[in-house]
Order: sequence, then C-alpha cells, then structure tokens
Amino acid sequence: MMLNVLFGLDFMMTAEQKQLCLDYWSVVDTQENYANHLHRLCQTYEVSPEQVFKTVQLSYAYLDDVTCVTCGMNCPIYLPADVSIMRSKDSWTCDHCLPVLERENRFYPLSPF
Ligand SMILES: [Zn+2]
Repeated sequence: MMLNVLFGLDFMMTAEQKQLCLDYWSVVDTQENYANHLHRLCQTYEVSPEQVFKTVQLSYAYLDDVTCVTCGMNCPIYLPADVSIMRSKDSWTCDHCLPVLERENRFYPLSPF
C-alpha cells in the first residue's frame, strides 16, 4: 500500500476513532465515490460529517511514493484529493525545505527550463 496513515495526538484517540481514520483514508485506494464513502462512514460510526472531519484531523496520512527532493521526507496528505495532485507533480518539496530553496533561488535565479 502506497498510502500510509499515522496517528498524531494518539493518547486522545479511541480505537474507534482510529478505525474511522483508516476507513476515511481507504477511499484513496478503493476509488469509491467520495460522497458515498462519507455517507457510509457517518452511518457506520453514527457520527455527523463534521465529527468525521474533526476525527480525521487527529490523524495524518503520507504517501510512500512521493518524497521531498531535498530531504527525502514522505509527502503528507491532508485531503484525499491531495493524493492525485501530489502524484501528478514531477517533483515535490516539503514545507520545511521550500522556503529555503525559494530564498536561494532569489540570490541565484534558476532558469525555468
Ligand atoms: Zn524537505
């Protein structure tokens, strides 16, 4: 599996909340219709969409196959839609490295081609 899910704020999460997060991110692999997926989650866990989003914010997912060109960190994903966007890029630079590269590029401008 190329999408991995990690849990932040682990101590605050119940087993059911963790399962909800894994379920939520599974839409990326199954290619299920997002609206259907969300509806099913709400029914399964008997929660509102707002509660789903709040719970998902306690977890974070990252891509195994997209890494920062500078430091090699795996690309974090905040929304399922990010996956196809990030994978379509030729290269990706993480939020930590990007400001440094941008500063360097101001002093040593790189040709866009
Ligand atoms: Zn980086």
